[in-house]
Order: sequence, then structure tokens, then C-alpha cells
Amino acid sequence: MALHFQGGTIYLGFGVYAEELFVDDSGHICDVETFKAAKTQEVISLNGNLLVPGFRDTHAHPLFAGREAQGLDITSIHTIDELGLALKTQRSKNPELGWLDAAVYDRSMTGLQTRETLDSFVPDIPVVLHADDHHTLWVNTKALEVAGLMNGDLPSLSAGRIDLAENGLPTGILREWPAMSLVMNLAPANSLQEDVQALLWAEQQFIQAGIIECQDAWIDRGMAEVYIEAAKQGLLKLDYSLAFRADVETFSSDFAYFLELRVELSKYKNLTAQAVKFFVDGVFGSATASVSEPYLDSKNVGELNWAKDELVKALSIAHQNGFQVHIHAIGDAGVEFALDCISEASYRPTGLDPVIAHAELTTSALLMKAKQLETNLCMQPYWAQNNGMLLSCRDHLGDTRLHSLYAIKDMIDAGLNVSFSSDWPVSTPSVLQGITVAVFRQGSSQMFKHNPDQAISLEQAIDSYTSSACKLLGKQNSGTLTIGQPFDAVILDRNLKEENLDGFLSAKVLATYKAGINLLV
Ligand SMILES: [Zn+2]
Repeated sequence: MALHFQGGTIYLGFGVYAEELFVDDSGHICDVETFKAAKTQEVISLNGNLLVPGFRDTHAHPLFAGREAQGLDITSIHTIDELGLALKTQRSKNPELGWLDAAVYDRSMTGLQTRETLDSFVPDIPVVLHADDHHTLWVNTKALEVAGLMNGDLPSLSAGRIDLAENGLPTGILREWPAMSLVMNLAPANSLQEDVQALLWAEQQFIQAGIIECQDAWIDRGMAEVYIEAAKQGLLKLDYSLAFRADVETFSSDFAYFLELRVELSKYKNLTAQAVKFFVDGVFGSATASVSEPYLDSKNVGELNWAKDELVKALSIAHQNGFQVHIHAIGDAGVEFALDCISEASYRPTGLDPVIAHAELTTSALLMKAKQLETNLCMQPYWAQNNGMLLSCRDHLGDTRLHSLYAIKDMIDAGLNVSFSSDWPVSTPSVLQGITVAVFRQGSSQMFKHNPDQAISLEQAIDSYTSSACKLLGKQNSGTLTIGQPFDAVILDRNLKEENLDGFLSAKVLATYKAGINLLV
């Protein structure tokens, strides 16, 4: 059926608005004559609401989010007593349980975050708590024993750290994936069908958020297979672009897997694999992001996960094989290192310009350099607010650096392609909340604005989730509502043009159209 949208505000993209829009019976945006020529027509009134292009999340982890949702949910717990109660209840209700996973714990929770604290609740099976930054685990003694970390003999790590107590034994806190994986690699694996269910649950959250396409920015062995299985069963409604994670230790042996899976994925219309993901540094919450000026408390400058010649070589191999490189870099020295390596890496596949994800601490010189190298920035606007996650970095960074984080307006003004994303489950998949913080630089009216000079317009925020996302992903589709393109669009329950912060905060997605079909029904 051909559709005629009218009676509201229609944002086409790139700052342009329209009063009506036509969609033909194949789900493509068309002119009025084509609409009239269709066999059946429907007029849809927007009731004064806003219609915008469909959103794309260029860096999220839906399978992790779905798996996490299958474990014990401790997101709303903020005291050790409540945590203890939740863990003990989970254990006593599930006597057959061999492993207890819970997510996500509030790192600012008062009380001792040690293995002994968890042992006092559940001592007999491994207990693994995932932190809200997703770069930290808090585990009990049993988990450390199973991983062989309690015999005084610790492996050397390429990055990250096993926190140690004065007695030389682990405290129970593991930082960054090389340390976390020592425990996580032993966790009982989901069955393929359980993973498919986790992915489909995540997909439903995307649809509710108005998202029609996602780049999964962390694909390890066994994960692409979940997407393939879901596609084989005809269950996927959205499009997914998968980014294979390059591990500094195993990159060369993993690369054959990337190539093999890319071919396999290309057989399914919803799936592509075009990027290789690199981590050059850590995060500010653990003071592991690479910075040019030392952290105020630890006096160190964070860590780089790769040696320069190795990363240049790995980026070149990825490029020569037609992959886009998607580089996690958070500290200013990490971003500079990533740019240096990008500039030295040979050949670049056309249409797949490099991506730096997060780029939290930048300078105008770094932005200029990124522009010269035609590097995309993949930002998480939701983080640009004075919430616990940002404030937990204050002791490490100090006020001046904290204030300068997430210079989104400067990035756009420098002419960079800035695409938005959630990094879910690190933070909410809600695009509307991301847009709200991008525009207001606060997540609630009680919060002080975080560096409001870096606020951007509603239109710029929407473009970052739509046209800029398409550009980052190297798509033919422009991500705008243009004649000839698939009708991928979102209807919101109000016209955000006329709303203040409270209006933004309570806005909802009413419809998520992908190729002319409303998935939110
Ligand atoms: Zn991520």
C-alpha cells in the first residue's frame, strides 16, 4: 500500500523540512504522481508529531546486551546489603546453578568491592559481576580459583590489570579484557539458540528506540555465527554490520576467520562484515585510557595496547583486504597514536574511511589531523552529561580535562563526519536520550550542564544518527528521506522542535519504519 504522511513536521535530513511525504507500494519514498498511481493508498496523519529518518547505531554490542539481560539484573542496586540479598536469593532459588553472572554493578557503590565481600554472599560457585563501564569485573574467590589466579602465579597481560592486595593475591577486581577474559573464557557458554534469543531480545530494544541498523563493534569467534543462525531462520528484522575484534596476541591467526566469516555473512541480506575493531587504549574510569598529561591520582599516563609498528601493520592488512578499521581510542594520546598509525597504514578501501570510536579527550590540533586523514568519529552523546560515569573520572582527570571531554560541536565545526552511537550495553540504546544530551548537555534538569559550549542543534543530532551514520558505514543510502530511497523512518510522539528538556526526556518512539513497514506494532 502506498502511504501519504501529512499533518505534522517532517525532517528530511541536512536541516531540510517538508510538510508531506509519499511512499510507494514497494516501500520507497516517491513523488505524488507515483503515489496516486498506486493501486491502494493510505493517508497517515502525523497529528502534529515529528517524522525523521530512521536511526542507525554505529557502535553497539547487542549480543552482549542480550546475554547480559539473561543473567541477574543488578542495575538498580546501589548498596552492598541489597547486592548481598540479590546474590543470595539468586543462589538459593537456583540450587543447580554452576556459575552466577550479574550485571551491571554500580562502581560508585560504597563498601569494599573485594572477592571476600562476594564470598560472604556466595562462596561455592564462581560469581562474576560486570561493572557499568563494561571494562571491569568484580569476582569472588571461587572464580579466581577456577581461573588459576589464586596460586600466587599470575600471567603477564598485554593490557589491563589484576588488582592485587597487600598479600599479593587478587582483590577480585579485573580491569580490561585481557584480564577479564581469564575468567570470562571459562564461563559456561550459551547454546546457539540461547544466543539467538539474546540477539532477538536486543533487536526488539533497538526497534523500540527507532533504530533500523546497527554495527556490532565487537565480534569474536562464535558471535558472527549467532547472527548467521538468526538470519538463516529468517528472524532478523534489522540490518547488522559486524566488526571483528582484532586481538593483539592472536590477530594473524584470527584474520583467516574474519575472511571466512565475511564470505559467509555476505550470503544474508541483513548482514555485512566490513570492519575490524582495534582497541588502542582503555577507559577513563579505570585510568587506562592513554593520556598526554599523567592522571592526577595514579601519576601514570594509561596504556597503549599495541606497539606502533604492529598496529600499522595490522591496519594495513585490514585495509588491503577491504576492511574498514574501527579504532577504540579514548585518551588524547590514544587518539593521536591512532591517527599516527592511520596515516602510516598503507592503502585504504574506497568509501570505508577509518573510524575512531569514543575520542573522548581531544584538542583542536587532533581534530584537524583527523580531518586531514578523513577519519570518521563515532561518538556516544549520552556520555556528555554530569552523571556518575563522568564524575567517577574526576579524580583521575581533574576538572579542566573533565570539562573538555566530548567536544562534539568542535568536531562537527571542524568538518569531521561525526556519527552517533550508544555503545549499549555500556549505556542505554535510547536514541532519544542520546539526542537529548547532545542538545542540552544534561540528562535531567537537576544536573549541571556538562560543557554547554559543545551543545549541538536537534538537526545536527538527528543527522549524526542518520546521514553521518550512513557515511561512516560507507552506505549508498544517504540516510535522508529522499525520493528513491527505502522509507526508513521514525515517528515521535511530539514535535521536538517545540519542546524543552522535559519534553525531550519524556518523548517516545511511536513507529519505526524499515523499507515502508512499521516494525513497532
Ligand atoms: Zn564498545
